[in-house]
Amino acid sequence: MNNKYFASTLLEWYSLHKRDLPWRNTKDPYIIWLSEIILQQTRVAQGLPYFEKFIQNYPKVEDLAAAPADEVMRLWQGLGYYSRARNLHYCAKEVVSIYGGRFPDSYQGLLRLKGVGSYTAAAIASFAFDQAVAVVDGNVFRVLARYFGISTDIASSKGKMEFEAIANQNISKDHPAEYNQAIMEFGSLQCTPKNPDCTHCPLKANCFAFKEGMVEQLPVKINKLKVKTRYFNYLYIRCGLNVIVKQRGAGDIWQGLYDFPLHESKRELISNIEDLDMFSNIESITDKVKFNPQSTFKHILTHQRIFANFVEFTINEKSQEQLREWVKQRGFEMVDMETLENLPKPRLLLRFLNEEK
Ligand code: SF4
Repeated sequence: MNNKYFASTLLEWYSLHKRDLPWRNTKDPYIIWLSEIILQQTRVAQGLPYFEKFIQNYPKVEDLAAAPADEVMRLWQGLGYYSRARNLHYCAKEVVSIYGGRFPDSYQGLLRLKGVGSYTAAAIASFAFDQAVAVVDGNVFRVLARYFGISTDIASSKGKMEFEAIANQNISKDHPAEYNQAIMEFGSLQCTPKNPDCTHCPLKANCFAFKEGMVEQLPVKINKLKVKTRYFNYLYIRCGLNVIVKQRGAGDIWQGLYDFPLHESKRELISNIEDLDMFSNIESITDKVKFNPQSTFKHILTHQRIFANFVEFTINEKSQEQLREWVKQRGFEMVDMETLENLPKPRLLLRFLNEEK
């Protein structure tokens, strides 16, 4: 199935409606890669300021590769999906150390880079190197499913293969980069998830979903995601101008970011500070405790729902050395408020700290 009408209509629509975005006017694979990683699972309006910050701080891949990890995570702070930031940094180092600062110029070569999957490899290969490899993201799934009437589950591996094959059959061989941009932009602006503008759509005469009244039913996505609920009781321990923090390790959310000492409870948040297992360690050096069991934060991630509470302990400054010893034994860190400000932190902590101000 190759539908020249489909590709040429999209290209024509794109020439009239495209948004002028900074990564669209370049063939530089570094800029394209950076924008694609930032924009994964992120809206353009949210991703744009992050893209600008990264380009400003790291104009070349060598600059990003040489940056300290904490600095990269701090710039990424608030964008979520932090493994992307770690992979981004790792990949920049890889490009510099293995490829001499030049991105591989083929789809297969790009796929070997850390954090670069089939979508990003296709985007870089087509936008930077004009290769006819079709991108398939959420927008593309939606446009193809509706226009061609495909009801295979887009979350299944069968669905992914089927959509990739159809996308590659329909890509414009003469203008692959423009075509890829066009179909994604079309999905983002015209054939939107809710209330697509079918009335003014240039594809409506041949669109399966429009003709069959199935726009709302397509694409099909069977969600198998299980959401886990967790209860985080944070100890916000202050001593003079210092606060106790902990860098989060591997194997859980927010790896590499900083939060506070944490007591995770099983079925609900604690309602009594005596239930905090670390409380007995600092009770004798605590001047004041601030705890409001009603003041809870709810934080939603793709696969986790977190309820959090923050118990504030003010430690007597005379006991600072004792506290320092306890902090060292536990693998925590004592930092001043300015350092805390500059450390990369999860959005949940930012919300709490902003309320504290
Ligand atoms: S007619 Fe509607 S559903 Fe079909 S491609 Fe256009 S906007 Fe999408």
